[in-house]
Amino acid sequence: MDDRLFRNTMGKFATGVTVITTAVEGVPYGMTANAFMSVSLTPKLVVVSIGENAHMNSRISKAGEFGVSFLAEDQKDLSMLFAGQVKENQKVEFKWLNNLPVIENAIANLTCKVYNTHVEGDHTLYIGEVTDFEVVEGNNPLVFYEGKYQEIH
Ligand code: FAD
Repeated sequence: MDDRLFRNTMGKFATGVTVITTAVEGVPYGMTANAFMSVSLTPKLVVVSIGENAHMNSRISKAGEFGVSFLAEDQKDLSMLFAGQVKENQKVEFKWLNNLPVIENAIANLTCKVYNTHVEGDHTLYIGEVTDFEVVEGNNPLVFYEGKYQEIH
């Protein structure tokens, strides 16, 4: 089975776009991720899947907690920034929720305590127990499909 064909096939699954955040010694960090899923209602669990080369692994390990922000359709620039696709350093003013940095004006923000981790292949699955959440009504989500950003009309 060909890697490129596999990636293209997985790209046929349309997703939202999140920024996974955490803070180490008060310094905020973010990383774009679309491998996010809601897992359980009781307790409230979510999962994110992070590649083995991402700096975010050591940061979440140190912090023991992370945030998830669902990006709005006008936040593509933030997705590109936190995916390392923008070369210039940019200052981002995070909003703080439950002592974790999250993205201002995202559609929804969650804060999570690491509940479990599973190393599977070249990714680590972080199961997070939701400790707080907020939602902003009225915005459409940023969508990722076939390797491109899309909007809902
Ligand atoms: P870094 O390389 O340290 O950070 C990433 C970027 O964010 C850098 O450019 C950095 O300057 C910037 N940044 C971080 N913190 C701040 C801050 N406080 N202020 C300003 N800028 C900051 N990878 C996965 O593992 N799982 C996924 O599900 C996933 N989904 C993706 C979905 C999309 C749509 C895209 C575009 C990429 C996705 N990626 C995913 C790839 C992932 O976003 C990149 O590999 C990312 O660069 C890895 O980040 P890092 O943890 O190594 O952190």
